[in-house]
Amino acid sequence: MDQEKEKSAGKLLEEQLTWKFPHIGKKAPKQTEEAAAFCEGYKEFLNQGKTERECVAKAVEMLEAAGYRPLSMTEKYRPGDKVYLVNRQKSILATTFGEEPLNKGVRINGAHIDSPRLDLKPYPLYEKSDIAYLKTHYYGGIRKYQWGTVPLALHGVVVKKDGEAVRICIGEQTGDPVFCVTDLLPHLAAKQNERKLAEGLKGEELNIVIGSLPFADEEVKEPVKLLALQILYDKYGMTEADFLRAEIELVPAQKAVDVGLDRSLVGAYGQDDRVCAYTALMAEIETKNPRYTTVTVLTDKEEIGSEGNTGMNSAYLRHYIEDLAELAGVRAREVLRNSLCLSSDVNAAYDPTFSDVFEANNASYINKGCVLTKYTGARGKSGANDASAETMAKVIAAMDNEGVYWQAGELGAVDQGGGGTIAKYVAQLDVDVVDLGVPILSMHAPFELASKLDVYNTYKAFMAFYKV
Ligand code: MN
Ligand code: MN
Repeated sequence: MDQEKEKSAGKLLEEQLTWKFPHIGKKAPKQTEEAAAFCEGYKEFLNQGKTERECVAKAVEMLEAAGYRPLSMTEKYRPGDKVYLVNRQKSILATTFGEEPLNKGVRINGAHIDSPRLDLKPYPLYEKSDIAYLKTHYYGGIRKYQWGTVPLALHGVVVKKDGEAVRICIGEQTGDPVFCVTDLLPHLAAKQNERKLAEGLKGEELNIVIGSLPFADEEVKEPVKLLALQILYDKYGMTEADFLRAEIELVPAQKAVDVGLDRSLVGAYGQDDRVCAYTALMAEIETKNPRYTTVTVLTDKEEIGSEGNTGMNSAYLRHYIEDLAELAGVRAREVLRNSLCLSSDVNAAYDPTFSDVFEANNASYINKGCVLTKYTGARGKSGANDASAETMAKVIAAMDNEGVYWQAGELGAVDQGGGGTIAKYVAQLDVDVVDLGVPILSMHAPFELASKLDVYNTYKAFMAFYKV
């Protein structure tokens, strides 16, 4: 009290009228331990879910263990009941039924589980100068030069001629071989160094080394390719034609690790947006008796514009809500109109090394909590959802009431670039939406950084959201 009295009139007025987002490490240092404990599960999720299919499989496992059952159109659901629905193995919806009637709206939390990577082309295998390679077509916005000389693991599924689906995973178990894209040595890179950074490695140079020994038979024209095929056949029973019925992806083989002497950061591939997927899933599972019915969506294809029938630009979310409405005997459009949604996705954390692409007052910072983003888009908010003041107020109140550390942030300075999320596709359904997520350093790189305090507070924000 004595200290309060000593403050000058200007200092008091400053405290009353101005606002700055606090640093969690300074304001609530005790959260450091809780956040670190929470992120042990997060790192495990990242290691087990490096593709959208693997994330869905892991989510089903976690939901089933928590008492969720597949949605049934013949069941009568009561508040507190928990259900889920898988969409084509690549996206998933989970619900906890609320106390309020469904036509009062649902609380949607949508995150995406696809991440930038190298996809195999449909006819990928070839041999050149006694080396066997796989041809790739990159998926999502990658900086191609970052993907050379990085150990990569092969993940995916092959549907064989007889219909059997075989899961593929090489490069994750201890002792597994890994794969990679080669790059030039500096001694011979003078000409390549002249290229623009965007072309440091070109799309058709992202070729994956998968073998170098031949099948020992002088009669065989491409013996290195044949040996690679023989190994794949022995392991998975697949032939070259089976690549045409496959989805196989190269992702960084690196496991999620702590970064920094203080272990304050998680370093891993695919944190955009599995960081929001994991925190959303945990909040969904931990929510026991919500006021409004929850709809947690882990979606696919965000990185290529939410396209396809597993992306948010398809009708699958609307159909799910129509199913819930039918079960409750209410009109789906009334449910949608009264609903509130978090489009949960990462944002670009302010990077002091590249400060000129940010506007410091409106950037998000690591260790200041989850980022609330009113609008995304580029060139004058083009392509943005642009949440209303009313929607902002609801979400801010939910977080403040529960003591969540959050901050506001734009994706970069005006006209420096931009990006989109699933927000606008949910808004198309006549739902109030706003973006919220975790600030990330080196977003879309093979190794991204997130602060454990931010991850933890994002989970807390999602818990708070399901309480309003
Ligand atoms: Mn994202
Ligand atoms: Mn992204």
